[in-house]
Amino acid sequence: MDDLNDKIQKAADWIAESATVVVFSGAGLSTESGIPDFRSPGGVWDKYDPEDFSFQNFLASEKSRERYWQLATEMYESIKNAPPNDAHLAIAELERLGKLDCVITQNIDGLHVKAGNSEERVIQLHGTSLYVTCLSCNKRYERDPIQERIRQGIRAPYCDDCGGPLKPATISFGQSMPVEEMQEADRRSSTCDLFIVIGSSLVVQPAASFPLIARRSGAKLVIVNRDPTPYDSVADLVIHGEAGVTMAGILQKVRKMVTN
Ligand code: NAD
Repeated sequence: MDDLNDKIQKAADWIAESATVVVFSGAGLSTESGIPDFRSPGGVWDKYDPEDFSFQNFLASEKSRERYWQLATEMYESIKNAPPNDAHLAIAELERLGKLDCVITQNIDGLHVKAGNSEERVIQLHGTSLYVTCLSCNKRYERDPIQERIRQGIRAPYCDDCGGPLKPATISFGQSMPVEEMQEADRRSSTCDLFIVIGSSLVVQPAASFPLIARRSGAKLVIVNRDPTPYDSVADLVIHGEAGVTMAGILQKVRKMVTN
């Protein structure tokens, strides 16, 4: 058995023997669905400056809101019709096999639920791009009708009810994290016995604190990521590879163990 196979087997063994498995996903989980991540070569931050897209800038000027909507529209185009990939499907199957407590995701693309995970088991730390919210009255809109306004030439849309600025229901740099989701993610990370990171650079805080919370609370930590992360040295197992083929390999072995 080669090194990669050994690692895949070990991850599968740990899933099979764990009572509470938490998956923590990042943008790298969805690149194989055609959605660019932020930090890989060719990712979003190769084209845009993150500083320009802070929440403070969004609030500060009409010009910033227009630029924000330009980036958000480009991202939504890649998200809207993206299919779940093998890694999403493997995670959904872990739930069906009774081997998943929850997914804590930084992703805004809705692909965990599209793949078959139940909504109540997916904690969206950074919100969702499938909806839009009014920053003044909190009215929520479906995304597509708002995109239609953009297509017709509106560069920064406003609320029909109160005239406040509309923003995709995602969390920008400098914007407060959702309180309930953060509390729930903290609780699940502190009480799981296996925590699996998939496709995250683990540099975006506070989301990236959850693997450490899990590790310090006694869980085993597994990291599946193409590139090294700052937490590789504290992980119990690190697989540097593609999420799709790795998770499909792990699932195949788990399936055999838990259905036999
Ligand atoms: P990131 O861009 O910082 O890091 C992505 C990581 O995934 C990289 O380390 C890269 O090596 C790895 N990766 C890329 N493709 C991979 C693959 N096929 N298999 C395995 N690993 C792969 O992403 P992040 O850590 O999630 O943080 C960035 C922020 O980006 C998050 O807050 C998230 O909200 C946002 N984001 C989300 C989406 C999405 O919803 N799909 C897309 C872009 C950005």
